Amino acid sequence: MAAGVFERMQYRDHEQVVFCNDKTTGLRAIIAIHNTTLGPSLGGCRMWPFVSEDEALEDVLRLSRGMTYKAAVVGLNLGGGKAVIIGDPKKDKSEALFRAFGRFVHSLGGRYITAEDVGTSVHDIEWVRMETPYVTGIGRALGGGGDPSPMTAWGVYSGIQACTRWLHDTRDLSQFSVAIQGLGHTGYWLASYLHKDGVKLYITDIEEERVRQVAEEFNATPVSPDEIYDTDAEIFAPCALGGVVNDNTIERLECRIIAGSANNVLEDEDRHGPMLREKGILYAPDFVINSGGLINVANELEGYNQERANRQIEKIYYILKKIFEVTKEEDIPTALAANRLAEQRIEMMSHLKQTWVAPHTGVRRRNQ
Ligand code: NAD
Repeated sequence: MAAGVFERMQYRDHEQVVFCNDKTTGLRAIIAIHNTTLGPSLGGCRMWPFVSEDEALEDVLRLSRGMTYKAAVVGLNLGGGKAVIIGDPKKDKSEALFRAFGRFVHSLGGRYITAEDVGTSVHDIEWVRMETPYVTGIGRALGGGGDPSPMTAWGVYSGIQACTRWLHDTRDLSQFSVAIQGLGHTGYWLASYLHKDGVKLYITDIEEERVRQVAEEFNATPVSPDEIYDTDAEIFAPCALGGVVNDNTIERLECRIIAGSANNVLEDEDRHGPMLREKGILYAPDFVINSGGLINVANELEGYNQERANRQIEKIYYILKKIFEVTKEEDIPTALAANRLAEQRIEMMSHLKQTWVAPHTGVRRRNQ
């Protein structure tokens, strides 16, 4: 039997889980607030046809905890939260549904701030904003930053420079080659930034037409989805799926660096982190190198400014440098070093018992 909700909250130390039910619109959503030590929790709202409530709950608990770590390690004054709407994004979307969700978000008084995620768009989030100001990731016309993907890719680009600097003492990428897996919202932009630097690119995607277009636009070499693990590129940039670094692929990889936008790149962090280290492959932890999107939407809380967001995202370079130093000093894998830095920051701030101000309302709150 699956564990009860409280047991599962206690397992990852969640503060609050809210189940949202609206009969009129058919909304069924779960909001999970993992930790608000550093500030209000922020994280996207995912819409997915989960096969069970149990699966939806597990997803929102896991993802909200991940947001706490991501915000903490990159130095944002935000906590971790996430929401899931149970439904099919192709069939079940309506203005009324997202506005009903917005009313639940509003009822939390700023403890949770939402944004778009898998299955939701800037357009959906703008419906949410009709009911609550606790929303980020809105379009430029409404004063937001719009689609965060180019900014996520900008962070990955800075992160790749941190890796080459660490291993080869240079930020000049023109002498390196990069194998990009996935040419969607983030992979495309990463290819464009690297191409400007004269980087040799290998590319792949399951959409053949996309591969053809990107190959032509950036003079890149197309390879099949399976061959992407076997190229002689110095850097492997996973920008599609999770779990692509696993028992089967690690032995094939010839790269020295893994640095991409995808979430949960390592199939099993506890085993595959040490295996990469042993093989001499430098892994830029996913939740750090892909934090550009979060930094971008967080920027909206102070009034969006693209130039400021760009500069903040470039700090990913220095955050990774610090992580690599800890990895070296403590002889531990990079993902573990990143987790420790996040935990240390939360621990330090929890002793300070800081007070934070809920955005837009000015309401002062004490961390829990
Ligand atoms: P996307 O859906 O726009 O692009 C993914 C691309 O990967 C698609 O073109 C798809 O056809 C391709 N793909 C799927 N399976 C593949 C395979 N087996 N081999 C090769 N290509 C394959 O997604 P995205 O927004 O670019 O996000 C990519 C990853 O980055 C995801 O893991 C996402 O969670 C993560 N991420 C994205 C952002 C963001 O701002 N978009 C922020 C943080 C993390």
